[in-house]
Amino acid sequence: MYDYLIVGGGRAAVAAAEGIRELDSSGSILIVGAEAHLPYDRPPLSKQLWFGKKTVDEIFIHDAGHFESENIQLATSERVKEVRPAEKTVVTDRGRRENYGKLLLATGGTPRRLPISCAGLDGVIYYRTLDHYNALSRDPAGKSILVVGGGFIGSEIAAALSQHEARVTMVFPGRYLCERVFPESLARSIQIDFEERGIRILGGELLTSIARKGGGLVAQTQRGKRLDCDTIVVGVGIEPDILLATGAGLSVGNGIEVDERLESTVSGIYAAGDNASFPYQALGKRMRVEHWDNAVSQGKAAGRNMAGAGEPFTYMPYLYSDLFDFGYEAVGDVRSSLTTFADWEKENETGVVYYLARGRVRGVMLCNVWGKLDEARQLIRSGVDVNERDLRGAVRA
Ligand code: NAD
Repeated sequence: MYDYLIVGGGRAAVAAAEGIRELDSSGSILIVGAEAHLPYDRPPLSKQLWFGKKTVDEIFIHDAGHFESENIQLATSERVKEVRPAEKTVVTDRGRRENYGKLLLATGGTPRRLPISCAGLDGVIYYRTLDHYNALSRDPAGKSILVVGGGFIGSEIAAALSQHEARVTMVFPGRYLCERVFPESLARSIQIDFEERGIRILGGELLTSIARKGGGLVAQTQRGKRLDCDTIVVGVGIEPDILLATGAGLSVGNGIEVDERLESTVSGIYAAGDNASFPYQALGKRMRVEHWDNAVSQGKAAGRNMAGAGEPFTYMPYLYSDLFDFGYEAVGDVRSSLTTFADWEKENETGVVYYLARGRVRGVMLCNVWGKLDEARQLIRSGVDVNERDLRGAVRA
């Protein structure tokens, strides 16, 4: 029996254990994670590790000794298969049954599969884990690599690989890179930068088949292109891991539905991170956020609430990315399908993009502008009607 049982061994899980310990120094804690590694941060897998800014040793959140000293039990290479709320029990793939007092589902998400058959093909990587980084970073120079997907993984990995002198081709169905987030003119400009750096971009394209031929892979596209390559890296989004939750009878929509205290519809079971659909207070709607800062902040808040804090989660998590010389942070709802207004100091390089709905700021992207997240948050929270004149200089570059 554990007072607190945390399913998932990622960022949200560790943050939750830390949140619990802030209020309860002695309650027993078990973290069960399916990966073989100690918990690590994922952002470096497509960023710092590729640019010599971190080594693999530095991405682990804590060493084994730290978990021991905090009296946190950690089970790796073990997967929870079933949650039985009536008995307050979990069952793992090692046949272990454990009782819990409070349970957290911090199971994250699983890479979405391409709608074509490439199961079991060596050299096709659905990029998400440290093992994937280890495989892809082995001598990329001179290799021909096909990157499928033009979102966060696709854009960051393509940039990383090209810095390591791989020959990179990107394929994605949208018209521009990062189209879901960047307004068109910015997306176009980033895409031109990628192309000038030697990355071949095939937008508006889909793969129709992947096969192994000799020592390499051959992909065919809908428009009849044949793409020969050594490796294919796929980043076409994730599906939140909700199987345990549905099996246990929790309410699930776009993720596990939790209330403002991050508790699910079954008392004593919480969710946090990529898989949690939570009431985003400042935006007045339910959201699911798939970024690192959300995992950290929500994990911590869920842990504190499991230990009895009873605090609503009101924090507004940010996201960040670096694409060659273009670095940005963003907060709120930053879908390019909203109305956008860009206040550039230097066009498509330095400035602030505002995302609006019904005349109110819903999201802010800070492009090569740093230290302004709180101002951006305040503007979103204020919920006041604005026009373009008000927004010029509203968050200063
Ligand atoms: P994403 O949602 O950012 O991008 C998905 C991309 O796949 C889009 O370009 C989409 O058009 C494309 N796509 C969809 N179906 C396709 C198909 N059949 N063929 C080709 N392309 C297709 O997801 P991702 O890039 O896979 O990232 C995975 C997760 O990791 C996300 O949750 C993301 O937020 C997270 N992540 C975040 C960061 C960051 O915050 N900087 C960095 C890396 C990953």
